Amino acid sequence: MSDDRLAFVATNDLVALTRGRGLPSADLSVTSGVGWVPADLAINSFGHLVEPNPFGALGDLRLIPDPKTKCAFPLPGGDVDFYLADQTLPDGSPWECCPRTNLKQALARLLADHRLSLTVAFEHEFALLDATDRQAGPGAFTIGGLTAGEPFGSRARRNLNGAGIEWENWLPEYGPGQFEVTVRPSDALRAADAAVLTREIIRESARQEGLRATFAPLLDPNAVGNGVHVHMSLWRDGQQMTFDVSGPAGLSPSASQACAGILTHTSALLAWTAPSRVSFLRLTPHRWSSAGAFVGLHNREALLRVSPMVPGDTVGRTFNIEYRAADATANPHLVLAALVHAMCDGLERAAPIDRVLTGHIDDEVFDPLPPTVDAAHEAFLADEIAQSWFADDLVTTAAAVRRGEEEHLAGLSEAERCRAYAEVL
Ligand code: GLU
Ligand code: MG
Repeated sequence: MSDDRLAFVATNDLVALTRGRGLPSADLSVTSGVGWVPADLAINSFGHLVEPNPFGALGDLRLIPDPKTKCAFPLPGGDVDFYLADQTLPDGSPWECCPRTNLKQALARLLADHRLSLTVAFEHEFALLDATDRQAGPGAFTIGGLTAGEPFGSRARRNLNGAGIEWENWLPEYGPGQFEVTVRPSDALRAADAAVLTREIIRESARQEGLRATFAPLLDPNAVGNGVHVHMSLWRDGQQMTFDVSGPAGLSPSASQACAGILTHTSALLAWTAPSRVSFLRLTPHRWSSAGAFVGLHNREALLRVSPMVPGDTVGRTFNIEYRAADATANPHLVLAALVHAMCDGLERAAPIDRVLTGHIDDEVFDPLPPTVDAAHEAFLADEIAQSWFADDLVTTAAAVRRGEEEHLAGLSEAERCRAYAEVL
């Protein structure tokens, strides 16, 4: 009798949806993987394969599963063996448009050129909707808010544990029906892999309770946003390289230069970290998302918030920099790849950090963020250094996919656009 256990081999795409193929687990080879199609990268958030794209009907790829990512993905009928894959050409060489491969290459650059590695923790916010799309709540950090999310929350945490994802914090957030989950810090590749899984497992856990969980950046233009905050620290040979008591805001020379690189390329970066047609509605002042391109000491309106160390840490192992302008419409591997390349640029130029704010934004002068994702994309195309980070076909496909989304959303109000993303994310 054949074994009916399913293996699902997947990749997270340019709109941060996880797509892949299933096969009998017993048949899976981690060296040859499963077949895949380049134009799959051109499917937008609303399920349309946008044309033109650089690939059309031509080409073949392989999804080569990384055995280290194997985990139990919970389905109602039993667990599935879930793998994240690298996309390769048929001869096994890396495909230049594979988001996960791009992150590996960026991390290799950071290590080779600067002898630095990156530790990362993703912090996700999401909203729980019931079957009639009513948000659970009110809650804002209360036990009532916590229990309004039960038994979904218990199921989600159990499913995360079952998949080997070490969640560190779970809380009822400020918005109605809004929750936040943070996963323990780990090496950057593993953190991005876990971010993909976290979103899928939370959405699946909600489905299993007859609910919907959405990571859409906003459910309404006036609502509290769902952010993705990326906590990062630099390491060399097991020593933290982020904190220095005498540096600006406690940043070490390496961390200062890395932050300066991010500030230099902020506009271009945003095209990759907040890429949807509604992402920029969230990036405005007084939403505690990110209001401007500056480093802020403990400031929740900063692009880069310097997080304090926890009590008892005298050497800075818990000190980290939080990038706050990402959302879950962005592929986590590409978010980190873009951030790492920007950091490498700052490190290469030993760039000085010139925008550290210690007060409220209303009392300080700072550079605003670009007003729209189109402005961010233009900035990316005008930034020669940023353009060298990614292959032309990847950039062209990302632009085509989002253009297709704009066509899909044409004529809709901002509120309707927010809801359209909430339906699919
Ligand atoms: N909801 C805020 C955002 O859109 C973040 C609030 C916080 O956790 O500081 O990013
Ligand atoms: Mg939060």
